[in-house]
Amino acid sequence: MKHLIDKLYETHQLSRDEYIHILNGIDAAASEYLFERARKVTRNNFGNAIYTRGLIEFTNYCKNNCYYCGIGSGNTRADRYRLTLEDILSCCSTGHELGFRTFVLQGGEDNHYSDEDMVNIITAIKQNYPDCAITLSIGEKSYDSYRKYYEAGADRYLLRHETANEEHYKKLHPQNLSLANRKQCLYNLKEIGFQVGTGFMVGSPYQTTENLAEELLFLKEFNPQMVGIGPFIPHSETRYAKEAAGSLELTLVLIGLIRLLLPKALIPATTALGTINSLGREKGIMAGANVVMPNLSPVAVRKKYSLYDNKICTGEEAAECRFCLSNRMKNIGYELVVDRGDYIG
Ligand code: SAH
Repeated sequence: MKHLIDKLYETHQLSRDEYIHILNGIDAAASEYLFERARKVTRNNFGNAIYTRGLIEFTNYCKNNCYYCGIGSGNTRADRYRLTLEDILSCCSTGHELGFRTFVLQGGEDNHYSDEDMVNIITAIKQNYPDCAITLSIGEKSYDSYRKYYEAGADRYLLRHETANEEHYKKLHPQNLSLANRKQCLYNLKEIGFQVGTGFMVGSPYQTTENLAEELLFLKEFNPQMVGIGPFIPHSETRYAKEAAGSLELTLVLIGLIRLLLPKALIPATTALGTINSLGREKGIMAGANVVMPNLSPVAVRKKYSLYDNKICTGEEAAECRFCLSNRMKNIGYELVVDRGDYIG
């Protein structure tokens, strides 16, 4: 086991079988060894700096119905909301004062916002906060739309591929969505010039160890600037309400492996990780992550952006989240920095 971890540390890639071997056999001691290697790589590339992104969940309307997601169109009990440009700018204002230099606009796929609306939002944020990066996370759009957002000033785009396996993709998504299109979107985003983030859920329904090995192979092939992974967590109003959540340990192992695979990638310790374990985000950092993404959405809508059950930090103000996370990072020897935190290749 150790020799495979060393091999990954040195060569930044392994074969499918080698990943399967690690994923099937890794125990607590070998995990610790992996995390120690991963932390070393993170330290070499980023010191003890942790980058932070202010997450603005600006709409929970969605035309899609991904089977695992609590804001899918199939959930008729979701309490839907949309933020206006003014609401969004007010989140940015609060965020900027708190030291955020990246704003992530995330939402369901909501056609209420036309390309022109998105361009107006991006332009206004850039005008008011020229020192900040804008990350979009609004799903699958045409090449042309992505290009318009980029030209308006958006810097980055998060689009998790969710699973790299076609069969598995079909078990998680309705027929009208395809892995091929999602991957095409990722390649389009990269070609246009975005810093691109992708990723997947750990422990999503029907996921196998072989699937996870394929995730790692796909990540190596696509070579994203950012990789977001987190445990699947069931949502009570979805068809997968009764499925088990993904495990903390496996998520941490995957963070460690991804750090060795893509040494310079920006890897968040996600809110989902913090939801399945009260120290999940700290553990994520200790396994090789180097980004946190606290919530900047107005408290009035926080609970409504419910991708999964029991999501943390839905009652706190942005400032509380910022200081809480800053302390959490300090406690484990890291420092939350005021920085755009761009990818440095
Ligand atoms: N509409 C955008 C944003 C989706 S929400 C898009 O299509 O990219 C952001 C991420 O939350 C998703 O990519 C998914 O990986 C994750 N997510 C959704 N439901 C989840 C659940 N039940 N448990 C854990 N993560 C979930």
